[in-house]
Amino acid sequence: MATCFWLRSCGARRLGSTFRGCRLHPRAGGLVPAPGPAPGPAQLRGYAGGLAGLSAALLRTDSFVGGRWLPAAATFPVQDPASGAALGMVADCGVSEARAAVRAAYEAFCSWREVSAKERSSLLRKWYNLMIQNKDDLARIITAESGKPLKEAHGEIFYSAFFLEWFSEEARRVYGDIIYTPAKDKRALVLKQPVGVAAVITPWNFPSAMITRKVGAAVAAGCTVVVKPAEDTPFSALALAELASQAGIPPGVYNVIPCSRKNAKEVGEAICTDPLVSKISFTGSTTTGKILLHHAANSVKRVSMELGGLAPFIVFDSANVDQAVAGALASKFRNTGQTCVCSNRFLVQRGIHDAFVKAFAEAMEKNLHVGNGFEEGTTQGPLINEKAVEKVEKHVNDAVSKGATIVTGGKRHHLGKNFFEPTLLSNVTQDMLCTHEETFGPLAPVIKFDTEEEAIAIANATDVGLAGYFYSQDPAQIWRVAEQLEVGMVGINEGLISSVECPFGGVKQSGLGREGSKYGIDEYLELKYVCYGGL
Ligand code: NAP
Repeated sequence: MATCFWLRSCGARRLGSTFRGCRLHPRAGGLVPAPGPAPGPAQLRGYAGGLAGLSAALLRTDSFVGGRWLPAAATFPVQDPASGAALGMVADCGVSEARAAVRAAYEAFCSWREVSAKERSSLLRKWYNLMIQNKDDLARIITAESGKPLKEAHGEIFYSAFFLEWFSEEARRVYGDIIYTPAKDKRALVLKQPVGVAAVITPWNFPSAMITRKVGAAVAAGCTVVVKPAEDTPFSALALAELASQAGIPPGVYNVIPCSRKNAKEVGEAICTDPLVSKISFTGSTTTGKILLHHAANSVKRVSMELGGLAPFIVFDSANVDQAVAGALASKFRNTGQTCVCSNRFLVQRGIHDAFVKAFAEAMEKNLHVGNGFEEGTTQGPLINEKAVEKVEKHVNDAVSKGATIVTGGKRHHLGKNFFEPTLLSNVTQDMLCTHEETFGPLAPVIKFDTEEEAIAIANATDVGLAGYFYSQDPAQIWRVAEQLEVGMVGINEGLISSVECPFGGVKQSGLGREGSKYGIDEYLELKYVCYGGL
């Protein structure tokens, strides 16, 4: 508590000026909107199969700070990537709103850290229960803002809610240590204490789960958070805020400050350099991660970085082709190829190459259905925006110009500007862009190889290392390859590896730290050594 009082007083001096020009004004007990235009009602547009009929309580457009819904001076539009339809206008927070949110989180931290682990656990559990009760509405929000097929959006809501459930259980399992030193009159203790306020910045590809994977751990540990969601997908973050409030999570523990891409740089800098913030937790591209690491370095903050990948998917001669094809479909085409653990490069051994490519192409044609995420049977929704489509197109054109063969797909889809055909390329070589840049779209490029050593060398010839997959029926090879792949997560004869119980994270430039699992909560805890003498 002493730390809190010291920082609060010095923070108050520093923060006095941050409220100038900000539409949030501090007062005892919380923050209230400054006089000005009244907050507008949610202006989300409903459409058949979309958001029509959704509970207005979940369709929020204001920021959520200190337990209050607050408008910002400006708004930005959010669009459905499938149809281009406007979904709503959302509060476009700036630096002053960001600083106010940090202040609210810091004030809440001073009391939240004192709440018993059992009580934190029970509140997280209530939040989880509310997510499950509202799962259909939450899934529809994800499909509307990200384009993800509704079935996958439901899957994300369960995955997302399970992080709250998991960390509600982990909250009560934070233990310290007693150490016996050589000095007979002393005992050494190790305490685990919450880090403080965490700045949380998340991407659009899992608009809900990338938040709860961080926030569940942070809140369980006794930290409070300021979340900046992606411009494309703020509604899921705001719906989570409504449910946190209904669950009784105290004001200021979970704050959300949406902002436009135009403001992301300065809002990111404001929350990542604020002296009241102790931890930066980011999921997104390696490029942005490096910017945030600079912010962290200047003020020496703890960091968790979940960054980009370039997952290899290796099929050895001994593999079961059907199993490998099923794994390839799952790992490549989930979320239309827009996950950080999606296979980016397929390495297939010469002996099995032709059989695998043929079976993979047939399976793609049979199982992948491009469409609006709300339509029954759609497995491939739109990409998030036209820039994403341009990148896939660039990778295909580059590969073809250097000698790759289009087995299936290869061009934009007639459904609209954000759609691209699921594409399989063979005769791919390592000089092609798609083998060393993350495509983040529905493109599967196949490289042929001869030996295990060659496959390992190709797989590891990159400066990132998030996930890697391989298919083999040879036990000795399985051990060798699993140990040699330079990645944080390995799928052996398996294309889907994410689970709340298991540690998620990468090596090299794919990031720092692990999320989920029994290790995830450690990212939000400090060790304090206490030497107890005079015994
Ligand atoms: P991104 O451009 O890095 O954006 C991620 C978040 O950072 C968004 O909220 C974005 O805001 C914000 N941002 C962008 N520039 C910023 C800046 N200068 N300062 C502060 N914040 C900033 O990543 P993305 O393209 O949306 O997401 C795809 C990437 O995320 C891929 O590389 C993927 O592999 C990676 N990813 C990794 C994991 C993992 O667990 N390792 C999981 C999912 C995705 P705006 O939306 O306003 O731009």
